Amino acid sequence: MAKSSYNPFATAQAQFDKVAEFLELDAATRELLRNPLREYAFAIPVRMDDGTTQVFRGFRVQHSDARGPSKGGIRFHPQETVDTVRALAMWMTWKCAVVDIPLGGGKGGVICDPHNLSAREQEQICRGWVRQLARDIGPLRDVPAPDVMTNAQHMLWMLDEFETIHGAHLPGVITGKPVGMGGSLGRTEATGYGVVFTVREALKELGVRPSDTTASVQGFGNVAQYAIQLYTQLGGKVVCVSYWDQSDQCSYSVRRLSGVDLAQLLGVTDRFGGIDKAKAKGLGYEILPGDAWLEQDVDILMPCALENQITGENVGKIAKRVKIIAEGANGPTTLDADKVLEERGIFLIPDFLANAGGVTCSYFEQVQSNMNYFWEKDEVLGKLDVKMTSAFHAVRELAKKRKIYMRDAAYVIAIGRVAQASKDRGWA
Ligand code: GLU
Repeated sequence: MAKSSYNPFATAQAQFDKVAEFLELDAATRELLRNPLREYAFAIPVRMDDGTTQVFRGFRVQHSDARGPSKGGIRFHPQETVDTVRALAMWMTWKCAVVDIPLGGGKGGVICDPHNLSAREQEQICRGWVRQLARDIGPLRDVPAPDVMTNAQHMLWMLDEFETIHGAHLPGVITGKPVGMGGSLGRTEATGYGVVFTVREALKELGVRPSDTTASVQGFGNVAQYAIQLYTQLGGKVVCVSYWDQSDQCSYSVRRLSGVDLAQLLGVTDRFGGIDKAKAKGLGYEILPGDAWLEQDVDILMPCALENQITGENVGKIAKRVKIIAEGANGPTTLDADKVLEERGIFLIPDFLANAGGVTCSYFEQVQSNMNYFWEKDEVLGKLDVKMTSAFHAVRELAKKRKIYMRDAAYVIAIGRVAQASKDRGWA
């Protein structure tokens, strides 16, 4: 099957159904949790720089608020679909539950390509998105954050629009804000670092030192860059990264077997994580096809790009040596590929555990905003490490005890918590 023909929402529901069976959830709880609680789909008309008006489609899906306000990012992507947003909203619910923070799950999106939009046009999309949802999001209701191709500046425009409409300072409506404007130190690093905290713990379990390992990473955006930074600091060697090439409309892998130098690669990378091929070549990197990152003879794979990347078609190309797959992206593995990984006995760190560092730090941002007292970066990252490490070990222990796959163990913990909260509230 081509990557684009996998429906992430069907994947998310199938994963849920399997665990609902295992947990013997009743019919009402299953019905409640296998679908979103609320959905919004709307138009965002924008006056473009050339004077024409373009209408963008926007979405927000609130999957569950049983454990707290819905929480989750907003993606700007040309291939965004409502089903993708539904899947991502559901995964947010499990993500907040597995790290045990008092938040639910939601996700938003706009079908657009920021590569082709000016800063002013993007600002109008952000403000238009908030105008459509001004009464449906809020600090105690639903709290957006950055995701694919959105950043702190987008969050600040959204915050400003929300505060203008409501006539008050309400920094808790959004996280991932710029530092100094209610943002938390460490938020930018948090998702990538969180991935590596879980990799570090998995390596301990396997009795392997990080400095004796190599890795290959898909993606070169925010998550990938900080994952590479921390993994390299721990002594690991990243030999390959992949990226989306906007001008060729395809992805490439960039490889250097002696190890990629993050600072050097960042010097030839644009703000979307696109690497300048010619310059990278000049620095001694090989330029390989997009899927090559997956075929490298390494110990660790970190898919840190988009959903549906490890599929039934390419899973067989994963080298025998690969021991750990840490899913920095949301939903990178399709159901058919996942079966193969489970059978192979790969140490899988599932997406909603591996990449929970971002939302955990968003939660810390809310706590700091509420106190109006901001922590030092070391304190934020220290607390993040504690949360991620304890969530990892809770999942690992359950997987060992019940002899189940790590993804299933993480789901059992997360769905169990959300089902319990829904039941306790009398919803099911
Ligand atoms: N977009 C990130 C995620 O998928 C972070 C969400 C948040 O901070 O609310 O986990």
